[in-house]
Amino acid sequence: MNLPGIQSKLPDVGTTIFTVMSQMALEYNAVNLGQGFPDFAMSEELISLVAKAMQDGHNQYVHMNGLPLLRNRLTEKAHRLYNTELDPETQITVTPGGTYAIYTALTTVLNPGDEVIVFEPAYDSYIPNIEINGAKPVLISLRFPDYSIPWDEVRKKINPRTRMIMINSPHNPTGAVLTEHDITELRSIVEGTNILILSDEVYEHLIYDGMPHLSILRYPDLLKRSFVCFSFGKTYHCTGWKLGYCISSPELMKEFRKVHQFNCFSCDSPKQVAIAEYILREDEYLNLGPFLQQKRDFFRELMQSTPFECIPSHGSYFECYSYGHFFNETDKELAVRLTREYGIATIPVSAFYKHGEDNKVLRFCFAKKEDTLTKAIQKLSGLQ
Ligand code: PMP
Ligand code: GLN
Repeated sequence: MNLPGIQSKLPDVGTTIFTVMSQMALEYNAVNLGQGFPDFAMSEELISLVAKAMQDGHNQYVHMNGLPLLRNRLTEKAHRLYNTELDPETQITVTPGGTYAIYTALTTVLNPGDEVIVFEPAYDSYIPNIEINGAKPVLISLRFPDYSIPWDEVRKKINPRTRMIMINSPHNPTGAVLTEHDITELRSIVEGTNILILSDEVYEHLIYDGMPHLSILRYPDLLKRSFVCFSFGKTYHCTGWKLGYCISSPELMKEFRKVHQFNCFSCDSPKQVAIAEYILREDEYLNLGPFLQQKRDFFRELMQSTPFECIPSHGSYFECYSYGHFFNETDKELAVRLTREYGIATIPVSAFYKHGEDNKVLRFCFAKKEDTLTKAIQKLSGLQ
């Protein structure tokens, strides 16, 4: 369509794969293991706390940086989990979701011509959000099939225009998790440079196999140059709430808030009041890893009855499976065929690569009731 006077800022961007696959799941009445969201209920207590907050009159704007009590409690939580010393006045801002925090961080620091190192497969908002700021994503493929970071290649791509490196652990879509080795490599690359880090840690508690979450918050030298982004939607099984937060150095956060204040100003108040109380129930987030690991293992076991080959996930909602040894079609073709003909929706991992790199891998979301997972995999019996 020709829109008079308008030049698209994102001419190559279509509709996100999550919407495409969820709509297709609805259309074909398929079990939706595509888009990442739980199909089990969130805490009744947290819902009641929101209702109570509304009844108690917490219905007007809260502080633009986030409810002070919530920021204080996030500071205490970060100290307990990661031994971080934060100042809630200057280093935490509550945002309408993790994606918004990422967009705001990018918009805060990127200028036309800047380069940002992005590892692919990448969560699908990263690249458009770099490009809309006139900056250039410098794409590096994670090593297939373990999806580890090729640090030698990162070193080769660093130049005076490199403004930022984006990391995401636990990783969407692969479930890969950063190790101490990765942190050492990252540190040695950025030390003595002006390179910033954006660390997407929305799956901080969804980590399995006894692996620690190596949050950037653990490393004061790295935190000084980082924006670290989180999502309450993932932690409390309420992705539709779209509430999250960003942690950074006081200097970077000051600039972040200049952008934030004219886009959102302040976030949903009753939910902040409710979470400020509910966050005290430590077990809720400490038990998330074991709870979802059990689902991952249940799903993995079911998948053994199919010809798909597991690429083990150590975190997030997702596990990836390859099929190149038994089907030739592209991952997009297979995802469409599975939805239409077998009634199970997944996400083709090529959608997480700007140039559609296709290793013949599908992403499955296992954050579902056991009954849903069983039903989904039954549909794959007789797959041909
Ligand atoms: N980053 C990654 C890797 C994600 O998977 C998600 C989930 N949508 C987000 C960020 C953003 O979360 P939110 O829904 O809070 O914006
Ligand atoms: N993070 C979720 C996923 O990767 C969904 C996000 C979205 O729908 N935008 O599936």
